[in-house]
Amino acid sequence: MSTARPDRAPAADGAGLAVVAVDGPSGSGKSSVSRGVARELGLRYLDTGAMYRAATWAVLRDGVPLDDPAAVARAASGVVIEVSDHPDESWVHVDGSDVSRAIREQAVTGAVSAVAAVAEVRALLVEQQRAAVRAAAAAGQGIVVEGRDIGSVVLPDADLKVWLVADPAVRAARRAAEDVAAGRISPAEADAAVEAVRADLARRDAADAGRAASPTAQAPDAVVVDASELGLAEVIAAVVDLVRERTAA
Ligand code: C5P
Repeated sequence: MSTARPDRAPAADGAGLAVVAVDGPSGSGKSSVSRGVARELGLRYLDTGAMYRAATWAVLRDGVPLDDPAAVARAASGVVIEVSDHPDESWVHVDGSDVSRAIREQAVTGAVSAVAAVAEVRALLVEQQRAAVRAAAAAGQGIVVEGRDIGSVVLPDADLKVWLVADPAVRAARRAAEDVAAGRISPAEADAAVEAVRADLARRDAADAGRAASPTAQAPDAVVVDASELGLAEVIAAVVDLVRERTAA
């Protein structure tokens, strides 16, 4: 992990030390919300999906067959994955190479659920995720960790667990807009892309929720936040309020 520190000082109250888990289906806005909350409260930020994407990039690089879990586990075990822990950065390195853009390409998006279903890959990455939380605490900082199993498996003692949902049509439209903004598709392709994106999100959600090893799961004590009809700033404000409530002395 990077040792970068947020530009802003952590919130002076208990919120500055908060450990926040943000889980939910693909495209619900977890990254934007989690980054926004981390910025607002001066917390670190960890994108665990980027870690599974990085492992998948390496597995594809090495030509490992995705239907051979033992080979996938072997390949992933030798890979050095580093990700930013700062909400204003989104770099990801695999074995020292910058793969920040490559891990968002369709080849990785199409393969990541298969790699993330391998129990040994999860064990490896969950340990790294917990280490990032310990490193933040040792530096006197809290952290927002986003993923699919953070509240249910990785950080069962998080101060706040958010289960972020949004209507599938809204999620598909937002994800297509992000693809345009990132230059992955042209504006003219956006409308046609929405249907394909919706199908892709549904396929990934089904795979991630149906796997045996820590499937996407809402922790029993998670607070459900429905972002379908709220703007980003409203969702961030709602989660910041929840963090402050949970950490008030
Ligand atoms: O969040 P993002 O869409 O980038 O995640 C990519 C994939 O990584 C998910 O579809 C899922 O297969 C996997 N993932 C996971 N557990 C997490 C985070 C992501 O299995 N905590």
